[in-house]
Amino acid sequence: MTWSHLTQAAAQRSAAGLDRSLRSREQGEQLLDLAGNDYLGLSDDPRVVAAAQEALRAWGAGATASRLITGSIRLHEDLEAALAAYFGAAGALVFSSGYLANLAAITALADDETLIVSDAFNHASIVDACRLSRADVVIVPHRDIAALSHALEANNRRRALVVTESVFSVDGDAADLSGLYEVSSRHGAALLVDEAHSFGVVGEGGSVAAAGLAGREDIVITATLSKAAGAQGGAIIAAQPVIEHLINTARPLIFDTGLAPAATAAALAAVRIMTTDPDRCAKVREAARRIHGLAVARGLEAAAPDGAVVSVVLPDARGGVAERERWRSRQILVGLFRPPSVPDGRSRLRLTAKATLTESDFEHIDSALAGVPTEVILPETEPGPSRGRGVTATIASP
Ligand code: PMP
Repeated sequence: MTWSHLTQAAAQRSAAGLDRSLRSREQGEQLLDLAGNDYLGLSDDPRVVAAAQEALRAWGAGATASRLITGSIRLHEDLEAALAAYFGAAGALVFSSGYLANLAAITALADDETLIVSDAFNHASIVDACRLSRADVVIVPHRDIAALSHALEANNRRRALVVTESVFSVDGDAADLSGLYEVSSRHGAALLVDEAHSFGVVGEGGSVAAAGLAGREDIVITATLSKAAGAQGGAIIAAQPVIEHLINTARPLIFDTGLAPAATAAALAAVRIMTTDPDRCAKVREAARRIHGLAVARGLEAAAPDGAVVSVVLPDARGGVAERERWRSRQILVGLFRPPSVPDGRSRLRLTAKATLTESDFEHIDSALAGVPTEVILPETEPGPSRGRGVTATIASP
């Protein structure tokens, strides 16, 4: 049979407890959602929803074409100005997803004369972009600035691009952006920071601004509009020469339909709320610290959160599925990271804090945490540096 290899692969996945399936949410479901990325609770905020409805009425359902044809609308420009102001940069460009923003930035800024140095825990969209770029790619151990320095010293390409997440989706820990920038600029390398998990959460203008680096010409920021902004889409925030280069060369801008009007207006309303109500952002960080404190008090292993994500390490993948189901039976949705979505082979229960959590939610979370197994099996190998055109680490978060 044509698909026998797929059936075999499915059987292997199932035996390893690694099969995945889709489960739809039902409208009006009364579940506590610690699995989604709606950190600020903005996806159903009446102001955000009203902005999307108005855009739908005024502009229709779709952008109708790619950005360079007829797919650029005034709303994109307004959102780009708001994003540039939020991050303290000269310009911004919006894309139809954060995944495409990373593909666009990395493939347009790196080529076969470039060395890319990428953190081992970087997101799958970064991994894929590195592969597509044809650059020489070195993967350095997670948050290892000395390894970055070695890689840049050994660089024999004309250019270098250092790529990191600001707050990592796997463990919710932060990159040392000042340290990365210091080493990168000393070697004439540009720094790309994916602010997917810090936009709307860290500081009042994201992680790059919080590190005092807003507006540097050699820093490029990417972001998603689908997490704290509660909408859909992605963005690149950068200096004007970078924006112009992207408009002329980035394939996800040239060959993909522009971001839909409703998503654009929703994201714009969300950025305005983030700017006028920074307490909301402080609240989500406080909620994450509280969940982390509860987990540690129950003897669980979890990195201290620098954003909204708290990742609790689990003994094995099969245990993870049972654990997620146990939380669901308590009316709580939690995320589960399993191989191949985790770089070090250790499964994690992923609890996402929200600005809207109540006292009774925290009690509910604490009682569910009491049942999480504490025995942890360490991985046989840690990810080390690797060099080559291909990227060996495969990391993804949903
Ligand atoms: N970068 C990171 C770090 C992410 O976690 C995600 C979302 N999982 C993305 C990029 C992709 O964003 P989007 O969902 O908007 O495509």
